[in-house]
Amino acid sequence: SQVPYAVNEPVRSYEPGSPEVKSLIATYKQMWKEKVEIPMYIGNKEVKTDKKVRIESPQDHQHDLGFFYEGDMSHVDMAIEAALAAKKDWNALGWEQRASIFLKAAELVAGPYRDRLNAATMIGQGKNVMQAEIDSACEFIDFLRFNVEFMTEMYAEQPVSSEGIWNRSEYRPLEGFCFAVTPFNFTAIAGNLPSCMAMMGNVVVWKPSMSQVYSAQVIMEIFKEAGLPDGVINLIYTDGAQTAEKVLSHPDFAGLHFTGSTSVFQGMWKMIGDNIHKYKTYPRIVGETGGKDFVMVHPSADAAAVATALVRGAFEYQGQKCSAASRAYMPKSLWEEVKTIMGKQLETVKMGSPEDPSNFVNAVIHRGSFEKCKKYIDAAREASDSKIIFGGNYDDKTGYFVEPTVIEVENPNYVSMCEEIFGPILSVYVYEDQNWKETLKLVDETSIYSLTGSIFAKDRYAIDEAYHALENAAGNFYINDKPTGAVVGQQPFGGARASGTNDKAGSKMNLMRWVSVRSVKETF
Ligand code: GLU
Repeated sequence: SQVPYAVNEPVRSYEPGSPEVKSLIATYKQMWKEKVEIPMYIGNKEVKTDKKVRIESPQDHQHDLGFFYEGDMSHVDMAIEAALAAKKDWNALGWEQRASIFLKAAELVAGPYRDRLNAATMIGQGKNVMQAEIDSACEFIDFLRFNVEFMTEMYAEQPVSSEGIWNRSEYRPLEGFCFAVTPFNFTAIAGNLPSCMAMMGNVVVWKPSMSQVYSAQVIMEIFKEAGLPDGVINLIYTDGAQTAEKVLSHPDFAGLHFTGSTSVFQGMWKMIGDNIHKYKTYPRIVGETGGKDFVMVHPSADAAAVATALVRGAFEYQGQKCSAASRAYMPKSLWEEVKTIMGKQLETVKMGSPEDPSNFVNAVIHRGSFEKCKKYIDAAREASDSKIIFGGNYDDKTGYFVEPTVIEVENPNYVSMCEEIFGPILSVYVYEDQNWKETLKLVDETSIYSLTGSIFAKDRYAIDEAYHALENAAGNFYINDKPTGAVVGQQPFGGARASGTNDKAGSKMNLMRWVSVRSVKETF
């Protein structure tokens, strides 16, 4: 029984004036006017509480979008109970039935819900049209379809048997419930983390970022319309730290699927360690936790390609991708040319609300992020060994707008070369051409992270040298391309070191973590 073969969802081009762009912008404007009330989903209930929290849009923090209902620790308990109560029936269901639910969800995202989910992502998370499309439409659809295919490939993997002996691998779900903790920056990730665990037969408590509530609501609508039974995925809006404490001390906790900051993940890992004697089983721990992604440029590189990769890699979605280019190493002989091209490109970059599809850069997610960007920009302006060569302005009157900013540093260990900022700020270190080898070492040693990175060169020996020198510096390594934009099924995504457990999202490697295999030997 072959499942429908997964191919990547084509990205709509949203040409100016096209019916597609008109329809999406009309949906955006409609939803912008509505006042929503967003409940939690626990078991078969839409849960409302007396704690209403305002939903804020990055591009206009005063605009009234409505609110969501925040829960307390009693709701966490309820969510765990609802998950465990749903487990028996969910596990008794054949895998084809589970697969069908998520294939149906993919069809709903691809068709009737596409505009609504994209618009929710634009409104709530501040993505422009194209950034929403590649995330909440294409990547989410790809996750759903490819995961079904990976699941069936996995189930088909069976051990050898011999005469009189039948060996089988039974891919069972984990014993207990799973916990999905998801970030604001990708709607696709928010949808994938709980759904891929559920697809493998698990029941899930899902706690999204409080800055992604609008699109989380739409994802839940889609799952329900696709026929996901009550209690399989329970969506709660509760305090992160307290929720972690509660969930991770439960005896039936069986797996954590996390995307977010390194410090939060490390805190949760410690909590799991502290509670290890309480659990029935060793929990699975999968995390993707940030990056300080490099672009290493060799003197033989194509200057125009480098400039484009930096502008797109560093500033698309305001640099709020774990994969964003945030430190570049530039040979002196090429820098002037790259700088000139970057300058010309940045002149054409427009900043403003996603309501106007020609805006390339929108606001950063919230006040905390705005303040953080400001701090790095102000520090760079004052420091004697760094200078701002592009951008450097910010304005939070209406929304949290930070101009794409490039800082040239003299010290390769300057703070903005080492720390993850998660905003539209790129640092560039210019090296003497003859120091190429030493600079490769610097790239490897400067950051604690190892998520993505790029090498730009025409010289094949240089590419090979970087390929080896940086073998542990990036889980996703790009040759002559920007370090963002991994595609499901094409570049399995994830990194090691402080960037995570490298259980590549959107691959069989990840799905394997959500099953507990029973090896069965039968002798005749
Ligand atoms: N997969 C995304 C990319 O390749 C990044 C995901 C993230 O920010 O966590 O750009």
